[in-house]
Amino acid sequence: MGTSSAVKVSIRVRPFNKRELSIGAKCALAVEGVKCTATNDKEAKTFSFDECFWSFDKSQEFSSQENVYESIGTELLKHALDGYNCCLMAYGQTGAGKSFSMMGSRKQPGLIPQIASSLYDFAAKNENEGIQTEIEVSYMEIYCEKVRDLLGKKSDKPLRVREHPALGPYVEGLKKLAATSSEEALQIMLSGNAARTVAATNMNQSSSRSHAVFQIFIKQKKSEDGVNVFEKKSKVALIDLAGSERSSSAGTVGTRLKEGGAINKSLTTLGKVIHALSEKKKHVPYRESVLTWLLKDSLGGNSRTWVLAAVSPADDSVEETLSTLRWADRARKVQCHAVINED
Ligand code: ADP
Ligand code: MG
Repeated sequence: MGTSSAVKVSIRVRPFNKRELSIGAKCALAVEGVKCTATNDKEAKTFSFDECFWSFDKSQEFSSQENVYESIGTELLKHALDGYNCCLMAYGQTGAGKSFSMMGSRKQPGLIPQIASSLYDFAAKNENEGIQTEIEVSYMEIYCEKVRDLLGKKSDKPLRVREHPALGPYVEGLKKLAATSSEEALQIMLSGNAARTVAATNMNQSSSRSHAVFQIFIKQKKSEDGVNVFEKKSKVALIDLAGSERSSSAGTVGTRLKEGGAINKSLTTLGKVIHALSEKKKHVPYRESVLTWLLKDSLGGNSRTWVLAAVSPADDSVEETLSTLRWADRARKVQCHAVINED
């Protein structure tokens, strides 16, 4: 039974934030094992996921950054080292915990730093067995359907997406930097984060309105007497998506409303692509947005995808939370169909 092009979907409920505590927000979510129930004024809706991470309340099992890494990161790294392309994206409303989960802080490193750290440990082990591991990273931002190299100069023009007939879509001129240690990879990530376009919204002052795509290119090579015994290549895309909220609920106006439209285009298309894949449609509209075009070789075929849907526990966010859970639920269906079709 094959599970290629499977999407594994987890949700993560963050703790109440200061604003929610100050207005005395109630908890609208209940998690039991892999089931999550969201309750609004009208109904209680239960969804099943591959995993539910709960971040507070002693009566529930607490999920730390390490727990999330153990579940998602180790599996992803294994597939990447086996030679598969991997894609992990954090989806959810602004302020729901996407960046915390992907990047984290110095004290509580998120998925990207933890994946990088284990990758270099693995490379060191590889070396003992005579296998060379080359690691390069790139970091770009998709903002209003334009690609910007976060490792390039501020004055650089937006980059173009192209498609190679055999190698698939790529960003023309995107910098790939060799990183020889996890510290170096982390420094590159941090310098890219500093360059990210941020625009305050009513929901979260420092939240980014762009999609941030951090990629790790891994090449493993073994040669004996100058002859290649094997070579394995894989690409890992780690994506901190822009907030999934509709622009009106974030109180965006003027230029930000325009941004909202463009962001929605990429996210709406991502939804459409996932829907088409889950329904095994012949036509998958990858090329309708920059994000999905670039993800073409990560979302189908011989690659693996993980979705981490971040949600707030608070009742005043329950409609956005429901919309995130519905989206995540649809993403999960890609897996079922892929598995059934390959039996
Ligand atoms: P997003 O990237 O989705 O807009 P952030 O990751 O920036 O949201 O999270 C918003 C705030 O909530 C940040 O201050 C972050 O540190 C905090 N936060 C998010 N998730 C968690 C968590 N699981 N545990 C503790 N704090 C969290
Ligand atoms: Mg963020």
